[in-house]
Amino acid sequence: MEFYDAAEALSRSEIERVQLKRLQKTVERVRRCAFYAERLGAAGVTPDSIRSLDDLRRIPFTTKDDLRSQYPHGLLCTDREEIVRLHASSGTTGSPTVVCHTREDLDSWASLMARSLFCAGVRPADVFLNTTGYHMFTGGLGMHYGAERLGCMVVPSGPGNTKRQLKFIQDFGVTAAHIIPSYALYLAQWLEARDIDPATLPLRIACIGAEPHTEEARRRIEELMHLKAYNSYGLSEMNGPGVAFECVRQDGMHLWEDAYVAEIIDPVTTEPVAEGEVGELVLTTLCRRGMPILRYRTRDLTRFIPGPCACGRVHRRIDRIKGRADDMIILKGVNIYPMQIEQVLMAMPEVGQNYQILLEREGVVDQMRVRVEIKEEFFVEDMRALGAIQKRICSRLRDEILISPRVELVETASIPKEEGKAKRVVDLREKAE
Ligand code: ADP
Ligand code: ZN
Repeated sequence: MEFYDAAEALSRSEIERVQLKRLQKTVERVRRCAFYAERLGAAGVTPDSIRSLDDLRRIPFTTKDDLRSQYPHGLLCTDREEIVRLHASSGTTGSPTVVCHTREDLDSWASLMARSLFCAGVRPADVFLNTTGYHMFTGGLGMHYGAERLGCMVVPSGPGNTKRQLKFIQDFGVTAAHIIPSYALYLAQWLEARDIDPATLPLRIACIGAEPHTEEARRRIEELMHLKAYNSYGLSEMNGPGVAFECVRQDGMHLWEDAYVAEIIDPVTTEPVAEGEVGELVLTTLCRRGMPILRYRTRDLTRFIPGPCACGRVHRRIDRIKGRADDMIILKGVNIYPMQIEQVLMAMPEVGQNYQILLEREGVVDQMRVRVEIKEEFFVEDMRALGAIQKRICSRLRDEILISPRVELVETASIPKEEGKAKRVVDLREKAE
């Protein structure tokens, strides 16, 4: 078994020992900021009162609103002078939150990231193209320093300009890339439209993440791009990428338990769910000095995958993120996650690489319209053929989400593709009021 660092080969009991020690230290440390001093004081939590990992449950949760309320520097546990970098979340849902890092924090993040890439099969000899944004978005600098730490030659291309990305891949012999899944699908379509065979490119690994995607989308990316795609999970509040990563077995993402304690709770009762059940992921940082965060409610829904991984790492695995609690659509009394729709669409050969879910209001009734790009070869003049595809999509969607949405077929590349995370759901209901 080949690992990047010794912490990957710890036994279960060793991991738990490290977690407890680091948790006690973190509880001690956060008392330097008024917010946590007060919170923990009110809950009667002192460093001495954390005697086992179960005592974690006595610590109150931290929410996104808490982070917002402490904007920008209320959660610092060091002098401002010790901070060497600031990141802010892209604010997909609401106003941004800020996370500050000391030099040691950046160092440990880079190591976690290097370990993550190694676990997905990236090696020092690889040429690594980073196609995500380099500004406040943590996917840029986070991946960049991780790949550098591992020893790759990094090409910091940033997002957009697909023609230039292709030139970089060809000219610099890019073998591994960080690319968000919706852009990977777009790239595949872009190459196809230009008759460029991805098998002729040197690219062999894609690290895909930062946005929800289905197993079906991953398989598509792998087949169309002729490479292996590995799921990468992280969030700005917990540094960014490098929280959990798929190994070459592609059976869930190893969550680095020497750096984070993970819990999965019922989002309503906040009680832990039964082992293997889906719930909200809650994370506590164990190695952060500048801005440790305790029991952060990620709003991301997943489950622990029970049992050991064939790769030999003991760090527990989380399943593909089902979606964010905030992404849930409630329509006609039915709860629907956008990924349920993607799962149906990406499994159909006629469906192209992009889709959009529109929520509309007609009178007092809410409607869902699913706009689906159809591959060129299926976009024929024959109305009957198109009608049959439309019907089939509609009935498969009904089987999955229990309501019949309107299905609108559109031509390849007709749904606008913006840089960054795809906006799958467009809610037009407010405007209609
Ligand atoms: P924002 O919250 O503004 O989007 P972040 O860049 O911090 O800012 O995004 C983190 C979020 O992105 C996670 O909480 C999760 O919802 C989503 N995410 C990140 N990686 C993945 C992944 N591999 N699969 C699904 N969702 C992901
Ligand atoms: Zn594994």
